[in-house]
Amino acid sequence: MMAQYETLKAEAGDALLFYRMGDFFELFFDDAKVAASCLDIALTKRGKEKGQDVPMCGVPVHAAESYLAKLIRNGHRVAIAEQVETPAEAKARGGSKALVKRAIIRLVTPGTLTEESLLEAGSANWLAAVGKAGEDYAIAAADISTGRFELVACGPGDLTAELARLDAAEVIAEDKVPGVATGRGQGGFDSVEGERALKSRFGVKTLDGFGSPSRAELAAAGGLLTYLDATQKEAASFLAAPRRIERARRMAIDPASRESLELTRSAQGGIKGSLLHCIDRCTTPGGRRLLADDLAAPLTDRAQIEARLALVQHFAEDQLVREDARSRLKAMPDIARALGRIVAGRHGPRDLAQLRDGLKAADELACKLGEGERLPDLLASLLPDCGGHDSLIDLFARALVESPPLDAAKGGAIAEGFDAELDELRAAAAGGRKAIAGLEAKYREQTGIAALKIRHNNVLGYHIEVPAKHAPKLMEEDSGFTHRQTMASAVRFNSPDLHEEARRLTEAGGEALASEQRHLAALTDTAVAAAPRIARTADAIARIDVAASHAARAIEGGWTLPALEDQPCLEIEGGRHPVVEAALEAEGERFVANDCALGPQDRLWLITGPNMGGKSTFLRQVALISLLAQCGSYVPAAKARIGIVDRLFSRVGASDNLARGRSTFMVEMVETAAILAQATKNSLVILDEIGRGTSTYDGLAIAWGVTEAMHDDIQARTLFATHYHELTRLAERLDALSLHHVRAREYKGDLVLLHEVADGAADRSYGIAVAKLAGLPPKLLSRAKAVLEKLEEGRSQTGGIAAGLDALPLFAAAPEQPEADPLAEAIDELDPDSLTPREALDALYRLKALA
Ligand code: ADP
Repeated sequence: MMAQYETLKAEAGDALLFYRMGDFFELFFDDAKVAASCLDIALTKRGKEKGQDVPMCGVPVHAAESYLAKLIRNGHRVAIAEQVETPAEAKARGGSKALVKRAIIRLVTPGTLTEESLLEAGSANWLAAVGKAGEDYAIAAADISTGRFELVACGPGDLTAELARLDAAEVIAEDKVPGVATGRGQGGFDSVEGERALKSRFGVKTLDGFGSPSRAELAAAGGLLTYLDATQKEAASFLAAPRRIERARRMAIDPASRESLELTRSAQGGIKGSLLHCIDRCTTPGGRRLLADDLAAPLTDRAQIEARLALVQHFAEDQLVREDARSRLKAMPDIARALGRIVAGRHGPRDLAQLRDGLKAADELACKLGEGERLPDLLASLLPDCGGHDSLIDLFARALVESPPLDAAKGGAIAEGFDAELDELRAAAAGGRKAIAGLEAKYREQTGIAALKIRHNNVLGYHIEVPAKHAPKLMEEDSGFTHRQTMASAVRFNSPDLHEEARRLTEAGGEALASEQRHLAALTDTAVAAAPRIARTADAIARIDVAASHAARAIEGGWTLPALEDQPCLEIEGGRHPVVEAALEAEGERFVANDCALGPQDRLWLITGPNMGGKSTFLRQVALISLLAQCGSYVPAAKARIGIVDRLFSRVGASDNLARGRSTFMVEMVETAAILAQATKNSLVILDEIGRGTSTYDGLAIAWGVTEAMHDDIQARTLFATHYHELTRLAERLDALSLHHVRAREYKGDLVLLHEVADGAADRSYGIAVAKLAGLPPKLLSRAKAVLEKLEEGRSQTGGIAAGLDALPLFAAAPEQPEADPLAEAIDELDPDSLTPREALDALYRLKALA
């Protein structure tokens, strides 16, 4: 057995090996230690190897899925070694001592899951393979839980951005890819292999139908398909034909911007507090997955965006249509995921019923939606995809019971009347059960033992059981009963009649079960053959759900239909930050709406004003409104005209990020350099307090330089929030730069933040007032005020912070010499090395008294 184990373990590599033994999957050696601690289960021993105990732990097969889930979530991969013959087959093959053959039937990895319990319903589960040809990179990504398959070509610089968009569960590559955490694939990362694998998988002679993938894309596809074959082994995995994603038709958003805008995850890491969570009103898991995709990759093609918006408008403007569609969608099963399981052969009868119900509901929804007049083009093109499954629906409706069991093992999935032969077998089995019940009554009467029962278990099959005190009667030679088993309180018997009835019953039952399995296999084949079409239906339903969700959200929040332009303008009236607004509303507070108007003549807004005044919020809301519009959503504003954004950048200065212990000045500068290298005049850039992570001089100088470069060279639409008041002087020199501030007022000595964005620079800084809000002591505040007066005096005389500092009596500004501190002196006097424990304790009491 050890030899067999070692061979399988070698094949499993760094994956944990689940070794099937009877009703358990067992793990040995280091695998056992890792799994036992991760799963919090007992670590035991089994036998010895080279004189050492062999550590072992195990999980019951019937509950293996939940243990697998935990291991996968903790970053492990698991190889499943199953018994591939029965013990009887092994005996027949190699005598009584023969070992049952085992083989790895599957490698379970985070990116190759199909089980409902291992997946999150609302998010895609991508496996991404990175391929390379010369200097070109590409990603092949597959979600085998739903069959989606994408190819994306990208330069080395875009790779991380593209992987961030996919947010893949698992990334594989041939070699290390700079800046990306990848697992090793199973080879196949070359274009020749990729071409061969694609052709054979999709049964095509040429790849022209897939848009003639590039060599890097083929290499990525090769690595991906090889990995799928290696992990799925005999099981198929469902992939629709690959879709080539044109990056130019998507808004580029780098990983740092995604994070800072909290698109699909909040800064705390959860989905709560993210834009996705705030706008999601989808009623199906498929819709939720598509919405996350849309947010991760907004469009840049005006016609495409407008097509989506027209569909949203269709739902937004007709409450009856919207509500009817949403309630129908809500009842629909997740057909995409059911299909993924069916193709992989990891499904039960219930999945087949989900297809039946889901496809039927899709067809009905399409009929209903088709009743309207003047359908939006996108809807008209989606409706035909929703139907066309009549024969499958009809077959499944006749074949399956209303709600079949999860598992096929016990039967009961195939409906009565579907197969006359099966009905007969079932009748025979039912007759057998009746006959056995009849025997029980007969034996009770015959023996006079009212407590006599006929029972069934897996070891004895059907048997007669009587309480121990009645047993002697049945033990008598001519009683007609044969003794089988004696237990503490009961004794078990058999009888020739029971034996005969039980045999007939088991036979009929077994045949019925086999017949059911054959029918289920045939239904599965039907579904698999229709897989590409079913997947199209699932996609269409998801798109409809997303549009209905946008409409519902728009109505709920009073959002507006944005107008799209090809010119780089950006005009928002009464814009709001959806997430901040929702948070304020939850506390009964009101969000102050603000306008924004950027265009070729006025493309850079410099925004000053007190901390907590609403600068960051304003910057982000402008970015989010543009992004939502390009996803094809209504936007939280009274009116919006959005010039299409090709790239979106959002940077938060070092000091704002310090709390998260991440960004240093260096990171900030690297990111700023990246913006300057990549932004175009069609981009939207928001810079929040850039240049603060260093001394005032450096910071100001850098912020100055960045502003000039954005204005003169890049010419992107830019919002720059800064507390460097000095920057406002740039307005004199740079035509397309204008000054704005968030308003604040001092009222009876207290600061009131109005959260209103107004024209012009802030009249003064409110740092001290903010410090007061924050609760700094009055003595400190009055001292700070005095220092500030000096500084401002200097500034007004010489015109700059540098000059202003000359006039400041720096020594006077230093805190007063601290008074002698008795505690510090006492500590100073202590010499720990010379103290006895007793003296040390005394010293501690003395110090405590001083404190
Ligand atoms: P700043 O960047 O100027 O320091 P923030 O944008 O972080 O300020 O805003 C600070 C807080 O003020 C936010 O957490 C929010 O509660 C509130 N706030 C910001 N903008 C608005 C607004 N437009 N209306 C109402 N409250 C707002």
